[in-house]
Amino acid sequence: MACSGQCKPSSPESDDMTNQAREYVPCNLCGGDRTKLWARAGEAQLVQCLGCGLVYTNPRLPADTLRSSYEGEYTAEHQDAELARQRRAMYLLEREAILRRAEGGRLLDVGCGPGDFLALLADRFEVYGVDVSHVYVQHAREKLGLENVHLGELTEAAFPDAFFDVAQMRGVIQHLPDPLGQVREAFRVTKPGGLLIVSATPNIESWCARIFRERHRLIAPDHMVYDFSPRTLRRLLEKAGYIVQQFAYPYLLTPYFRWRQAFEFIRLSALIGLERIIPPLRFNLRSPPFWGNMMTCYARKPRAGTGGKPSARDRT
Ligand SMILES: [Zn+2]
Repeated sequence: MACSGQCKPSSPESDDMTNQAREYVPCNLCGGDRTKLWARAGEAQLVQCLGCGLVYTNPRLPADTLRSSYEGEYTAEHQDAELARQRRAMYLLEREAILRRAEGGRLLDVGCGPGDFLALLADRFEVYGVDVSHVYVQHAREKLGLENVHLGELTEAAFPDAFFDVAQMRGVIQHLPDPLGQVREAFRVTKPGGLLIVSATPNIESWCARIFRERHRLIAPDHMVYDFSPRTLRRLLEKAGYIVQQFAYPYLLTPYFRWRQAFEFIRLSALIGLERIIPPLRFNLRSPPFWGNMMTCYARKPRAGTGGKPSARDRT
């Protein structure tokens, strides 16, 4: 999996996906089923839970269909040389962020994709990965020599309790049919005091998402079935037992930053404003990359002996 949040399914099956039967699901975060429409996008619709505020695709494609859409070849994003250069530079920044918070031990990458990021961490950690794509797992094992990469969901890997010092979900949680179940499993297999990093996650409360709605570049309802905000992501992690330490919104110091994108944001926002003043107007546009579109969350599993309550050390 391991997309940057901007990828699309690469499988030829994806062209047929929108024609398949959809299924209604309750809110993954609070279990409620009362929602309001957030946006329509093609055949799909995004709804917002009236109980907790979680935005998600409903009805959605069956879980098996979602999972099979990740099977296949490298996506165009993985093959494009410039995107590959940007992605590697981003990986190096994220590696430094992890090393500032963890001193080594065992690291798990949930949805590790072809294993490129995991390989960059292998000199400092004993690395493990899981991914639902045969092709990616084969690449990670055979091309990169990552022996501990497992095929399937995290819940299928059956790791021992309290096995990992660090678990990360990079560009993954928005794709999972059951994010709460997978985060709970990450909690189980993480040591007390261990770190969870949820990164490359689109933020549905970003300026771009609020202004551009279904024309926001990170809206892909048949591919990314959950659209978290800092509030709903925090609540999800806390429900699994984690202590949320920090949110970050990587953009300004990343290889994806361009000054012209700020001007583009202003120009396109003005056009949206014009549409609201003159209703017949409808421009064909898409939001630009911009600050706040993507978020990273750092959380820790409480240490033993705190009765599940955070110690002072857990909060830092
Ligand atoms: Zn809810």
